[in-house]
Amino acid sequence: MRVIDAHIHIGKWSKIFFEYGSTVGQAVSVMKSSGIEAALCMPTDATSNEVLFSLSRESCGFKFYYNAWIDPSDKNLDDFLERNINEISAFKIHPSIQRLKITDAAYDKYLRLASDTGKIIVVHCGRWQEMAGYKFPLEAALKYPALKIILAHMGGDQPSLYLECAEEVRDIKYKNVYLGTESVREFYFMNLAVKKAGAEKVIFGSDYNLGLPLTYIPIVESLDISNEEKELIFSGNILKLISS
Ligand SMILES: [Zn+2]
Repeated sequence: MRVIDAHIHIGKWSKIFFEYGSTVGQAVSVMKSSGIEAALCMPTDATSNEVLFSLSRESCGFKFYYNAWIDPSDKNLDDFLERNINEISAFKIHPSIQRLKITDAAYDKYLRLASDTGKIIVVHCGRWQEMAGYKFPLEAALKYPALKIILAHMGGDQPSLYLECAEEVRDIKYKNVYLGTESVREFYFMNLAVKKAGAEKVIFGSDYNLGLPLTYIPIVESLDISNEEKELIFSGNILKLISS
């Protein structure tokens, strides 16, 4: 079965993760030993797009798709996006780290750009409901119906949140909204969420360099769905989004 890891970080974190970091070489080695054929990679909060983008372009015998970290206060961001837009597959928005809701005006031009150019938005969704609740990206989805949005951590990294979210994203008005599995470990509840949302809405990710693919691959393998549906989660859905 083809496996693409749709959510990995490379580089060094700020103090939020004790300045821990990993290199492109380390990422390639973990991806390969986990049986992963390609990854959608993004920097960390303390690594620049410029640095990771060029490193991830160097031939390392592994396919990286690039996910640009969107910090609206980054003065180099617009220039970086303009120069590299054709080689960027996605934009990462992290409301909790940036202290900005995805519906904040500062993100608006990036959502519009993503919508116009077919880039995927990967948005961190967490337990901090006032800032990173999944309701805000759903609002953005209504404003930009063509926007492809992956709600990371299945919309909230907690069964009570992601079960509710899985129910909501079934609605046809959210047809371009997906759930990313990164860091979700409650296999029983993930199974319920996948049954609610449908496997065609779910995308595998590991959250490497914080998580390991081999921690999370068995959870998707354990789901009570067909092999074809597992393949959609492991690679089919993300490949479709990247190429559309
Ligand atoms: Zn992440």
